[in-house]
Amino acid sequence: MTDAKIRCDACPVMCYIAEGRSGACDRYANHGGALVRLDPLTILEAGAPAVPFLGAGWDGDPVAAKPFVTAIGAGTTYPDYKPAPFIVSSEVEGVDMVTVVTEGIFSYCGVKVKIDTDRHIGEERDAVRFRGEPVGHVTTSEYGSKMLSLGGVEHLTGGTKPEGRATCDALMALCNREAVELEIEGISLVVQAGQPPIIDGEAERLMRVGCGSATIGMFAKQWLGHADEVVVVDDHITGVLSEHEAGKQLGVPPSGIRLLGRRSTPGRYFKVARPGTGWGGTNIDDPLTILGPWKPKVAWPGLRLLMVSTTGEQSAYYELGDDLVPRRAAMPDSLRAASDLIAENCEPSVCSVLFMAGAGGSLRAGVTENPVRLTRSVREALTHVTCGGAEAYVWPGGGITVMVDVLEMPQDSFGYVPTPALVAPIEFTLRASDYAALGGYVDAVRSLAEVKLDGARRIARREDRADPRDRSHYRWPA
Ligand code: SF4
Repeated sequence: MTDAKIRCDACPVMCYIAEGRSGACDRYANHGGALVRLDPLTILEAGAPAVPFLGAGWDGDPVAAKPFVTAIGAGTTYPDYKPAPFIVSSEVEGVDMVTVVTEGIFSYCGVKVKIDTDRHIGEERDAVRFRGEPVGHVTTSEYGSKMLSLGGVEHLTGGTKPEGRATCDALMALCNREAVELEIEGISLVVQAGQPPIIDGEAERLMRVGCGSATIGMFAKQWLGHADEVVVVDDHITGVLSEHEAGKQLGVPPSGIRLLGRRSTPGRYFKVARPGTGWGGTNIDDPLTILGPWKPKVAWPGLRLLMVSTTGEQSAYYELGDDLVPRRAAMPDSLRAASDLIAENCEPSVCSVLFMAGAGGSLRAGVTENPVRLTRSVREALTHVTCGGAEAYVWPGGGITVMVDVLEMPQDSFGYVPTPALVAPIEFTLRASDYAALGGYVDAVRSLAEVKLDGARRIARREDRADPRDRSHYRWPA
């Protein structure tokens, strides 16, 4: 402490903070000479009556009746060997439980973004930019979704200062469920957790029902008798009814159609066009451009052709003229209904943001003096890991690499420090006896009653989620 300033020791930046001012991260302030955490501690409370565990005969404390202290607003300790800010005990269902509560400072963290769309948002490995800085890349697509991998230590600390700051800002905004505008090779992409993506100014509406081949497999019967040929246009696998196994088994005769692109197996074509924001995630607006000349010995004048995209949003009906050239015609009601059925089977398109971080490093020293025991305890399901009270998926293998859906966490759970790194809540819950056995800071344990909960932000726990102290999370030895 100097005359007018106090030194914050909650992270490596070690800010000197003047009276009435906050530190570089806006999380701590000098309030009358005392260092205070600006955001309130957040606790989860059940909004519904407790359900007794194991039904009749149960007479313990209802787990749902006890507030759960999350790490949001709890603060950090630095260096790591100091006990975590809160180590809270509570008796639940007759079992003494301990929750170690801390805001972790994560240099090794990022987000995985799942974007339900078949529109082109860039090639795999293309750089994703925020404020012109590279903050991640397009990664392997999943079924019906494009995926981004953003952040990570290489962008936070391995590039220039502006790159690190842009990465940290983008991650924090995404994790706090804000809309973030990204750019991928000239394509504008607005991402917000739980909201549809906006690609080049256009909000996506539907997630495709499947690839073109899958769509044929699902809906072949709907078209039977109403069209002689159906092509489901898709950037990955375009399906052709008469050649597809589904069409063959339903007795659809060859139509003489010729598809451009590479034939994979019967009725399944790759690369019929380039990726884009047109039909089925291709770059085409006119579906006829993916067809070659019809086979004159097989095709016949009057042949009824339906072309449809994998969301059913685009569709067109044609009939072959005497010259075997398709001509657009009015869509019969039966085929309109079949396209509507495809659209009805599509789910709404949303962006999902999953925070991913490594909690298996120095952070563990705030839990126990013997850090590897915490890792083993997590692995053995004796310790349950949550982030802001939300269940975290712990990756297999070494370390404690967690992944959590930010929509499961309370709003504004995340902060930052200018190292740069993200600050995220993390809680480790385990039996008091197990905590003592792994070398925990038992002298620092406080009961729920001793934790000042006045002024805490109180959030109702989702009724369809088990309390982190619920015994269903643990593999206690019999
Ligand atoms: S950046 Fe924040 S946590 Fe770090 S020393 Fe400054 S005020 Fe404290």
